[in-house]
Amino acid sequence: MALKPCKVCGTLNAEGVDTCLSCGHDPEASKRPAIFRYVAIAVAVSLTMPIVLGLFNWILWQLKPKSPQPQPSRVSWVANEIPDR
Ligand SMILES: [Zn+2]
Repeated sequence: MALKPCKVCGTLNAEGVDTCLSCGHDPEASKRPAIFRYVAIAVAVSLTMPIVLGLFNWILWQLKPKSPQPQPSRVSWVANEIPDR
C-alpha cells in the first residue's frame, strides 16, 4: 500500500482515503478551502477597522484648521479627550 502526503498538512496517508487522518481534509484537495481566506480577511478587517478609524479621526482633528465656526459639543469620542487649543 502506497503512502501519499496530504496536500493540506503533509501527513502521510494511505492512498485512496477520503479524509486525512491528521487534519480531516481531503488529501487530494489543493491547499485550504477558499473560505478560510475570506474569513481571515474579514477577521483582520474587523480587528483593524476601529484602529484605522480612530487614527483617521485623530489625524482629522490634528489637521483641522482653526475655524471660527463653533463645533458641536459631541464631535467624537476621540476629540473629547483632547483639550482645546
Ligand atoms: Zn492532512
